[in-house]
Amino acid sequence: MIYDLIIVGAGPGGAMAARTAAQNGLKVLLLERNSEPGRISRYCSRMMRIGSVGFQSDKVPTDLEMKRVTLSFELGDESQIIRLHGLPEVVTIEYRGELGPCLNKTWVSPSGTVFRRRATSENLEGYVVDKEELLRGLILEAEQVGCEVRVGTKCTAMEDTPDGVVVYIRHAAGEEKLITRRAVLADGSFSPLLEQLGYNKGRLAGRGRIKFMTYILDRLDSPYGESNHLSLAMPSRHPGFVNVNRWPPGRFHVGTSASVTSRINLPNVLNTFMGDSPFSGMFAGAKIVEKQACNMDLRPPVADAARGNVIAVGDNVAYAETAIKGAMGLGYMAAIASQAALLGQDGNALYNNHWQHGFNFFSPQYKRWNKRIRKMPAVLDDMQINTLYEWISSRNISGMPNDILYDNRDQLYRELPEIAGKLMGETVDPSGRSVA
Ligand SMILES: Cc1cc2nc3c(=O)[nH]c(=O)nc-3n(C[C@H](O)[C@H](O)[C@H](O)COP(=O)(O)OP(=O)(O)OC[C@H]3O[C@@H](n4cnc5c(N)ncnc54)[C@H](O)[C@@H]3O)c2cc1C
Repeated sequence: MIYDLIIVGAGPGGAMAARTAAQNGLKVLLLERNSEPGRISRYCSRMMRIGSVGFQSDKVPTDLEMKRVTLSFELGDESQIIRLHGLPEVVTIEYRGELGPCLNKTWVSPSGTVFRRRATSENLEGYVVDKEELLRGLILEAEQVGCEVRVGTKCTAMEDTPDGVVVYIRHAAGEEKLITRRAVLADGSFSPLLEQLGYNKGRLAGRGRIKFMTYILDRLDSPYGESNHLSLAMPSRHPGFVNVNRWPPGRFHVGTSASVTSRINLPNVLNTFMGDSPFSGMFAGAKIVEKQACNMDLRPPVADAARGNVIAVGDNVAYAETAIKGAMGLGYMAAIASQAALLGQDGNALYNNHWQHGFNFFSPQYKRWNKRIRKMPAVLDDMQINTLYEWISSRNISGMPNDILYDNRDQLYRELPEIAGKLMGETVDPSGRSVA
């Protein structure tokens, strides 16, 4: 049988591509190597942010016309509506899982001094979602409009030919070779298929590989009010942040990260923060119900993700990650672009244009912003973290560290020259002025 579109991977990118393409009448097959639809094997913190803010900065780059996908939520009694904006149409997703509201990310020093991302805690930053439920819903909707879904089926190879794409699969009953007019490769990070297809040629390894470790907790006794979205720092125990947030249904997670080349033992870090640190109190009554780990690659993105008859969608071609909403937007666009290509139009140009304007990692300006402030726990000691957070909080400054420290750098150099020098890598004269 010849398909119009075979999609490899039923994560947010692939599931959304399958739903959209099937809704538009294409003959679609969705392949997923896991045996249950929507089952997730790769760790993800599951927060869906409202608005178009980035990971390191809330500012929008101006060197590239940004057309990022944004989200809105409509809450109902039995189900919620998630809307994706920034695509050719507003895309609506019905979601039946729990939503864990995230209010005002809060940075906490060893002495308990805090500063926050927003001036008030009235505005939601986003929701932590039950990602399995979200994916199950998308896959079910795709099936209901005629998409064939094969789980427990791994794509082992793909060949793009002028006449279409040959897809090799393996499942419990054996191996098969399938033919499709177009394919979407949405198989996530560390994709061997992407490598096979030659997409990684010339794609230099970036700043390296990060390891993550997270514990899922049954409760949290946070002294920081409504905000359970915390970033804890104690450089004497770990030169990075330990992050705390919700985890549906009704749970929390505490996690941290480090370069894979470092000798940092992440479970030791989490055990220390939870059991033997000034933060231990909030974890005292908590039980660890699950542990999850994963790696993330920091590599330059692949600019022309749509080539020939294949569109590579989501984390496989990204710098680090595209996030859930980004991957869903890409899945939607990959379906539209595949359909355009099947009608003889330049679907690849349509897709690549969306991809190259949808993510901050394509902006050289944003990349520069990320480098201008060093990670606080990596360069400061416990006392300096206390002093810096007191300095920020006493001035009622709120925002991402990268933004607020840079925006207030002159004052910081004048008043806390040693700390400013460590954060910005510049030397200062005795009056506190930067001389770099
Ligand atoms: C530590 C960490 C924290 C994160 N936190 C967040 C967060 O808070 N919020 C957020 O929005 N995003 C977060 N992300 C990112 C988010 O998880 C991803 O960006 C998103 O899931 C990417 O979707 P995707 O469809 O590209 O790939 P994936 O979600 O990885 O899905 C790929 C799918 O393809 C399947 N597959 C792989 N190979 C094959 C094959 N050969 N054959 C068949 N099937 C195959 C896999 O089983 C999987 O189901 C985080 C990521 C990491 C690593």
